[in-house]
Order: sequence, then structure tokens, then C-alpha cells
Amino acid sequence: MRKPLIAGNWKMNGTKASVETLLAGVVAGAGAIERSEVAVCPPYPFLQMAASALAGSSVRLGAQNCATAASGAFTGEVAAPMLADFGCHYVIIGHSERRAMYGEDEAILAKKLAAAFAAGLTPILCVGETLEERERGDMEKVIAAQIDGIIALCGIGAFGSLELAYEPVWAIGTGKTATPAQAQEVHAFIRARLAGHDAAVAQKVRILYGGSMKGSNALELLSQPDIDGGLIGGAALNADEFLSIAKAGDAATQ
Ligand code: PEP
Repeated sequence: MRKPLIAGNWKMNGTKASVETLLAGVVAGAGAIERSEVAVCPPYPFLQMAASALAGSSVRLGAQNCATAASGAFTGEVAAPMLADFGCHYVIIGHSERRAMYGEDEAILAKKLAAAFAAGLTPILCVGETLEERERGDMEKVIAAQIDGIIALCGIGAFGSLELAYEPVWAIGTGKTATPAQAQEVHAFIRARLAGHDAAVAQKVRILYGGSMKGSNALELLSQPDIDGGLIGGAALNADEFLSIAKAGDAATQ
């Protein structure tokens, strides 16, 4: 049984005051979470504040992106070793917003994965299809290309040391959640694709679902056999709502 991972992607939201309140709420409620792992991924400027607030709690810290290089003349970039230095355990790689807005393709993502591994971070690698791709009947083709591209560049072994997140682009921030059956179908497809290369890696890797997950739909999604957690956007900005998803993770593994 894979332990559910409930990770909050705060995106580019928050102020010092709101982040302090959110962190305090998550830490206060995290003690009641028994079987799920909980992580938060704040924007870079709040990492130090988050690392201090989370110290001594079970909540892990993550970042939302990292540079391909470990240091140097890359104005505006943040390197994976810096994230590790600030106490990050996870780093989100290849979120659909970065793929769409910053042109991150598999070649770039493979470099970011390598940088994250070299710094001792655990990547949360995101994949997912757009609505247009799904409606064209290309969902499997798109997901397969995203997975196969990384296998070709990083090797199947990389999937033994990362978390995957299936995030249908049409469900992110739209309020439209994939049905549990739709999500399970894609998660099973991804696992089977990985199993074609290495059955043990496919069994081990956690595949999180992301896309308008909230307290009210989490249990049904997290009860699916191949859904091993959630990557949560909007609902992660409210501590009670976020923790209710972690509680659903607990309930789903009972
Ligand atoms: C995300 O961006 O990773 C996400 C899943 O967002 P939301 O939960 O808001 O759909």
C-alpha cells in the first residue's frame, strides 16, 4: 500500500501575514493526520518562514520549480541546492502552467529533474492533457509522450525516486474535477506504461491527482486503487480545506 501524499501548491499567492496564518493552521491541524503525508509548496520568498513554522511538525516543505543549473549567471533563477539548503524536501517540476507559459518541454524538464536529484530533492513531476487534446481523443498519446520523453532522457530508474502528478489541464483551477473513474483510468494507464519498463518502479511510484480537488470530492478520488494522493492548488490556500483532503487520504487507506 502506497502512503497517500497530499501536497499543496500555493502558486504565486500570499503575503507575509496570510502565509503566517496559513502555515500556523496547517501545522496546528497536521497532528490529527495519521496515515497521509502532508507537504506545502509556497512561493520562494516564503520558504524560510515556512521552514521555521514547519520545524518539529510532520509537514514537509517543497518548492514549485527549480533551475536547470546548480549555480551561476542565471538572473532571476533559483537553484535546487538553494532549495535543499532552505529545507525543501520536494520540488514540483513540469507543472502545466510552466509547460504552457514558460515553454518547458521534456528536454528542459529532464535537466531540472537531474538538478533536483543532484541536490537531494524529490521531484513531483506533473503530466496532463489539455481539453482540446482529450476531446481529439489524444489523451493517452499526450500522456505517453510526456512519460516516455522523461524515460528516454532520465531512464526508468528516475521514476523510482520521484512522485508523479496527473493533472488534467482542463481541471486545474476550473472547478471541473475529473471523475474518479476518469482519473483512475489515466493513473492506471501511467502505471502500466511504467510497468512496461520496470514493474517494481511502477508499483512503487506514487501518482497524485491534481485538478480542483477539495474536501468534498477527495475521498472518492483517493479511494481509487491507482490514486496515491493529491496535488492541491486553490483548496490548499485554506488550512481547514487542505487538511480535510489529508483526512480523506487517511480514510481512503483505512
Ligand atoms: C494545481 O495547479 O496543481 C492544481 C491542482 O490546482 P487546483 O487544485 O486549483 O485545480
